[in-house]
Amino acid sequence: MAAPNRTAPNRPGRPSLLLSPNSVLANALLRTIDLLRPRVHAARPARIEFVVGTQINGAPHLGTNLVQTAAFLLAKTARREFSIDTVVRFGALDNAPHEVVLDPETHHAYQQTYYHALGKDQVAALIDTYYTQFFNSLSEATDTDYVVETYTDQQATPGFRAEFLRTLERLESLRWWMAPSHGTVHIRIPCPGCGWAEKRADRTKLARLDEDGATFTAVCLDHGSYETHIDPEDDQPYLDLATLYRNLVKERALGRDGDTLHVDDEGRRLGLRLPTRRRRSRRTRHPGSADADADLHAPGARADRGEAVQVVAA
Ligand SMILES: [Zn+2]
Repeated sequence: MAAPNRTAPNRPGRPSLLLSPNSVLANALLRTIDLLRPRVHAARPARIEFVVGTQINGAPHLGTNLVQTAAFLLAKTARREFSIDTVVRFGALDNAPHEVVLDPETHHAYQQTYYHALGKDQVAALIDTYYTQFFNSLSEATDTDYVVETYTDQQATPGFRAEFLRTLERLESLRWWMAPSHGTVHIRIPCPGCGWAEKRADRTKLARLDEDGATFTAVCLDHGSYETHIDPEDDQPYLDLATLYRNLVKERALGRDGDTLHVDDEGRRLGLRLPTRRRRSRRTRHPGSADADADLHAPGARADRGEAVQVVAA
């Protein structure tokens, strides 16, 4: 039986919060694609884009490939069902941690992304090695086009940066949603000298926020304190956000495109379920979020675990 659809009590000036959208859907869906039907009817988009994000950190495991396959199949089904153009967007998360080290004196953790460790060309080679052929096959089998976008390219766009700057105005009200365990949102702006960043943003501070952008101060393991400035018109410095925060910014940026319905796919929410034992072990190994403690001291390529397909059309 469906859980009660609880909402927080309405108080003057306080919006009520929908606590569990899943409860609304319990027993109400005949097919997964019906999840989109109300959105499509309400938004009447010109096209639907299925977004699949995957951490580019080694050979994909079966679950990742399943989620990617589901995105193509859903794109095909949605096109047939709603008579709307559909496409798959592959978000290659090249900001996945390549290496994490601890400062022996302060115990602050530092990380280097795949992009910073390998560079653009080698990231492209990784994508080519593990995904291109597979995606071409899926594309052919489902008659669905796809595009590839790296996180590095995405974070450099003016739209992404403008949305990020907007979130900073509301950081106080956002931070517990973005970081429920500790309230510290992970904004990682790598050191301009070496490209390493504070993993948990322990000493990264927002120093100034005005119409010119945001100025942060942070501390590098090797180079000490540094100051960086985020300006929407400039694609530097690199802006690495933790998973929840990145999704918030990305979804707000994508949501400004009124013609396209973006469907971010998350395997489990779309009914793809891993066996219980597997799910438990994933939860144990990676409590909380994609950049939880389990990533510590895990350098080099390893089985990727970053599939993120969420249904959160703006
Ligand atoms: Zn440095």
